[in-house]
Amino acid sequence: MHEFSIASSIARQLTEVARQHQRKLLGGTVAIGPMSTVVPELLSDAWEYVIKDTELDGAALHIDRVPVRVRCRECDAVTEGHDPFVKCQACGSMNLEIESGFELQITNAELADDTEKGSPTR
Ligand SMILES: [Zn+2]
Repeated sequence: MHEFSIASSIARQLTEVARQHQRKLLGGTVAIGPMSTVVPELLSDAWEYVIKDTELDGAALHIDRVPVRVRCRECDAVTEGHDPFVKCQACGSMNLEIESGFELQITNAELADDTEKGSPTR
């Protein structure tokens, strides 16, 4: 269950963002590729557990499942899918260059509105 350490790490980073902006975190988004070996369901559960009774309590974790994208070294076709074991959809080759699919990154942090409206932070 490495999802717990991943959830903790995400929580740490989002806490940092919230503190920098001095706002409460409402939610965060993580992009997860099929090759990251993260099970989204387990990560959601771990997240709830990790943020309980912390300053992030109640914040939602949105998981953006990004597809794996590979480029075929034989015919240059691009194949996308949610299965880590892809082969070229054009020629069936497995001689592929992986362009994406290992993602495990925070792509968005949703912060509560600043109470002082009309003073944009620059
Ligand atoms: Zn191909």
